Amino acid sequence: MKEKYISTRGGQKNISASAGIIAGLATDGGLYVPSFIHDIHININDLINLTYSALAEKVFSLFLDDFTPEQIHHCVSQAYDSGLFEMDEPVCVKEVSDRFFLELYHGPTCAFKDMALTILPHLMTTSMKIQGIKKQILILTATSGDTGKAALAGFSDVPGIGIMVYYPKNGVSTIQEKQMLTQTGRNTRVIGVDGNFDDTQNGVKLIFSDTPFNQAMDQAGVLLSSANSINIGRLLPQIIYYFFSYVKLVKNGKIHPGDPINFVVPTGNFGNILAGYYASLIGLPVNRFICASNANNILTDFFKTGCYDRNRNFYKTMSPSMDILISSNLERLLFDLSGNNAPALAKLMTQLQNRGHYHVSSELFKKTTNLFSGGFTSEKATAESIKEMYAQFHYLMDPHTAVANQVYETYRRQTGDSTPAVILSTASPYKFGHSVYQSIFGPIPEGLNDFDVLKSLADKTGVPIPKPLTNLDKKPDLHHTTCHKDQMAECISDFVREAKVNQ
Ligand SMILES: *Cc1c(COP(=O)(O)O)cnc(C)c1O
Repeated sequence: MKEKYISTRGGQKNISASAGIIAGLATDGGLYVPSFIHDIHININDLINLTYSALAEKVFSLFLDDFTPEQIHHCVSQAYDSGLFEMDEPVCVKEVSDRFFLELYHGPTCAFKDMALTILPHLMTTSMKIQGIKKQILILTATSGDTGKAALAGFSDVPGIGIMVYYPKNGVSTIQEKQMLTQTGRNTRVIGVDGNFDDTQNGVKLIFSDTPFNQAMDQAGVLLSSANSINIGRLLPQIIYYFFSYVKLVKNGKIHPGDPINFVVPTGNFGNILAGYYASLIGLPVNRFICASNANNILTDFFKTGCYDRNRNFYKTMSPSMDILISSNLERLLFDLSGNNAPALAKLMTQLQNRGHYHVSSELFKKTTNLFSGGFTSEKATAESIKEMYAQFHYLMDPHTAVANQVYETYRRQTGDSTPAVILSTASPYKFGHSVYQSIFGPIPEGLNDFDVLKSLADKTGVPIPKPLTNLDKKPDLHHTTCHKDQMAECISDFVREAKVNQ
């Protein structure tokens, strides 16, 4: 581990895992990556009889260079062995038709963000100990729905850390809003912002770059940090389930150890699929990653042409967590495929910033397409896919998973590639019950609210509503603060003053 973590833009080297987890983003605007990734290896045969947690410890021990085995064990057991997940193992693999679904949504908030956000708080508190930081950390998150609730649930009542979530007041679903407003925990605060998601996200970015404000917070003993998906502490936990699903297929006799398989990933910020790529670098046999997008198909175009161009329309779809035009983690992939060429990456990212687009070299493009394919689907095809899978196999998919399923369908028809495929299933169908109901049964009957729709969907399909979403409508709202998009910083001062952070 010569240089440990380094920035994709070349400005920082030799950063330890704990320092990277606390900082989130590198000081030069780049992302931290493990410089040693090509020197580490996991042997599939060593994993065959491991539990999810044991496998997690093995993976983390390779990446968390300054954590002790005891510290890693503590973090892992707090996240994955403390009854937070619905089943004995946090994830499961289901065979449906000619493919496998890796269900990543059986955690406390019913979305795959839980896989990382249940452990990130523990990685963060341990990192603070390692770094000798005595301050309190206040996590600020702007959310369009899923991340906010998963971060709240993960950080709730974690000593030494406070969490504030901003969401666009009229920009999230009823279920998502209710999930957040009913969040318990003395150290949590949820704020509805009078604006759209971009306003909300910009507001948070402005707070992070407001030096006087950050100094004032520092004086008050508070360090601002973030839990979004560019943090390596969110990326590393996602490597685990790729190995876990592979081992499951081996154990169930579906493949032999060493057989390459395909992974189909419904993609937004490119975090999930990048974790799969990292898994492949350290020994997971992968034939191809299929990157699935909705109508916001910027990545499909990139994998077709080598040109990443965000000057395009933005569509609101029924898979909102993939409604994204800047897939931040693509930077990490290109950095690795270019042989850690930081100057080249810095140049591309400056072009993206200034002109809204960049074009990778033909050499880099070739490397990219060796392992990745892209595809997208329309809203109509997504709805049909939900309906079809239910009609034929009685399998319920949320719209994000359905995008992946439909993209895979097309990929397979066009290429004839019949390599065994795992589709990453990223949300419970009940998290997006409204769209799932409509896709299968048509228009929602008049007079049914969103909670009635969940019950009706469960009645009609016999698939139970996951526990965290049952009786959600009966729970009391615990958060009532709203603010104008220009007043987001003041909410922090109020929160800190009320000593919610310094519990
Ligand atoms: C966040 C999210 C995604 C996209 O994952 P990325 O890591 O951002 O690519 C897909 N589906 C669901 C349900 C999500 O919440």
